[in-house]
Amino acid sequence: MTDEFIPYGRQLLDDDDIEAVVEVLRSDWLTTGPKVDLFEEALAQQAGTKFAVALANGTAALHAAMYAARVGADDEVVVTPMTFAASANCAVYTGAKPVFADVRGGTLLINPDAVAEQMTDKTSAIVAVDYAGQPCDYEALRRLAEDKGVTLVADACHAIGGSYQGKPVGSLADLSVFSFHPVKHITTGEGGAVTTDDPEMAARLRLFRNHGITTDHRQRSEQGSWFYEMVDLGFNYRITDIQCALGLTQLGKLPAWIERRQQIAARYDEAFAEIDCVDPLVVAPERVHAYHLYVVRLDPGLDRQAVFATLRDRGLGVNVHYIPVHLHPFYRERFGTGRGLAPVAEEAYDHMLSLPMFPAMSDEQVERVIATVDEVVEQLS
Ligand SMILES: *Cc1c(COP(=O)(O)O)cnc(C)c1O
Repeated sequence: MTDEFIPYGRQLLDDDDIEAVVEVLRSDWLTTGPKVDLFEEALAQQAGTKFAVALANGTAALHAAMYAARVGADDEVVVTPMTFAASANCAVYTGAKPVFADVRGGTLLINPDAVAEQMTDKTSAIVAVDYAGQPCDYEALRRLAEDKGVTLVADACHAIGGSYQGKPVGSLADLSVFSFHPVKHITTGEGGAVTTDDPEMAARLRLFRNHGITTDHRQRSEQGSWFYEMVDLGFNYRITDIQCALGLTQLGKLPAWIERRQQIAARYDEAFAEIDCVDPLVVAPERVHAYHLYVVRLDPGLDRQAVFATLRDRGLGVNVHYIPVHLHPFYRERFGTGRGLAPVAEEAYDHMLSLPMFPAMSDEQVERVIATVDEVVEQLS
């Protein structure tokens, strides 16, 4: 068998994806055109929500979600530290203060008890992350958000195609945010979206994506009018029709891709149950896990850096998701955060590893990952 490099994640594009993009390039509308509407309709259907608003990327979608939730300076946003920095950065963009609530050790999902402890009179939103593709404990989170009158935002960038208590990811919070970066489940190159059932929030998302202007180029063109008004400060966070055409063909393949990810996860689970020093994360009840990532915890007696480096040498694109956000220099310096603030996330970070997981992985590649991990942890134990 060859020792070709297996990345931790990788996009999958077919001829139909490429043809859909080329078709848009030959059409009248490169941006704010009909493919944006079609992609949004398809996303809303996937999420089971009334509205979806597509944006330039997942980070812009998070920023727009903060605007829709009316998060402002002097507010606090409770967020998990076990995520990509963008989940917390969106609060900082608005002038609000991110407040970190620790995760549960088994799933690494935000712990609702820790959220409750961090909530104050200043809390205006909670950002929960469906880490690795597993939906959070939304029953408890919703109750907290409703009791205190704060907006619940799901950073669902890992979890499109998953579900909780039979309800699809995208419909589980007031606002749910997606990313279509190439390492995510479906890609538009760069791209993102927010889903919601709230018409006012949907309107605010559209306003924010277009400079705070009440009509877009196509609406003015159709009305034969030059008139527009800017009613608030927004950004150019629009997505193109080129991207949305790709998103539409990609979204059609999502169910098959989720199924393949789940098959790979099931094989990993079965194999690692036999390997003492490698523990998969826990999957909580009532979840359909979308497996953006497959994360294991290594025995604390193993040197994670040595395991990581040896696996990389052996051609496995292992990774670490994530350095807890509150440990980044920016957060330490701006907000005085540091070790000890979220001990469960910090301990998990010290011993975690993400293994290759993407739908185009062959069974042979999956077996090679398992065999190589087994040999390397044995050798380094
Ligand atoms: C990818 C990701 C983002 C950011 O999405 P971009 O499209 O890269 O801006 C935000 N949050 C999480 C959890 C992500 O994985």
